[in-house]
Amino acid sequence: MPDNPLLIAALAHAERGWHVFPLRPDDKRPAFPDHAGDDCTGRDPRCRSAGHHLGWEARATTDADRIRQAWTARPYGIGLACGPSRLVVVDLDRPKDGTSGPTGLDTLAELAAAHAAGIEATYTVTTGRGGTHLYYRHPDGGPELRNTAGTLGPLVDSRAHGGYVVAAGSTVVGRPYRVDLDTDPAPLPGWLVGRLIPAPLPAQRPVVVSLPTDRSGAYVRAAITREADRVTTAPAGERNRCLYVAAVALGQLTAGGSLTAEDAESVLEQAAARAGLGHLETARTIRSGLAAGSKRPRQVAA
Ligand SMILES: [Zn+2]
Repeated sequence: MPDNPLLIAALAHAERGWHVFPLRPDDKRPAFPDHAGDDCTGRDPRCRSAGHHLGWEARATTDADRIRQAWTARPYGIGLACGPSRLVVVDLDRPKDGTSGPTGLDTLAELAAAHAAGIEATYTVTTGRGGTHLYYRHPDGGPELRNTAGTLGPLVDSRAHGGYVVAAGSTVVGRPYRVDLDTDPAPLPGWLVGRLIPAPLPAQRPVVVSLPTDRSGAYVRAAITREADRVTTAPAGERNRCLYVAAVALGQLTAGGSLTAEDAESVLEQAAARAGLGHLETARTIRSGLAAGSKRPRQVAA
């Protein structure tokens, strides 16, 4: 085998039962598919053979032949799909350069102490920016855990179903992701399970948006569905940005008089909750997106 460290790393991850997929070289974003579900024309060979759009999670694999084929072609980064790999990765960040304050690791240690626990040894990766990824086994039985952002505390996110991490062996803008502790992932500690179980959706009440039954109503309804999907299907790390984009779009319709501000907000809140975004951080994103959109009203012809 030629010396191809990314291929070797990808195969080693798959060997552990972890499902990998190519990221754009030296980048965090998935290399495939190269289009969003909304823009799927069915021309992509994998979408075509599946008969429907296939996202990165469905494309992630442990198949050595497919991995060899991909990583022989280009120096892709390695994305690790947490859900199919039965992993929950706790993502601990550091304050931005030049700012002080506790790191995500400090916050997690404090939380653990509050539960009379410690942070036990588990498979650990140091990220390009100097953050820490702690890999845990997803609990068997019980609800599927999804991503959280800031639910556990500032600078503490988690990735599970619907989420991925940049795996060791990859680089992002030239900065390597390295294994810090190479051991089998520990079971997710009980006190963390309790905190990561998805809260019942705040909007169990489905959002009912009353719209005119004519063509303009259908248009607005399609726009609402599209923007909500944009948020719920966004890859981890892109969710907050996608929420903002969706809020701008709905803010434009609100300013154009097609949708009430209240309805736009509930739709966005519900989509954000389904995407596993924490309430506190999303409220601000939604507000600023709606405000930005309201400056560019968009009218829907009846
Ligand atoms: Zn597609």
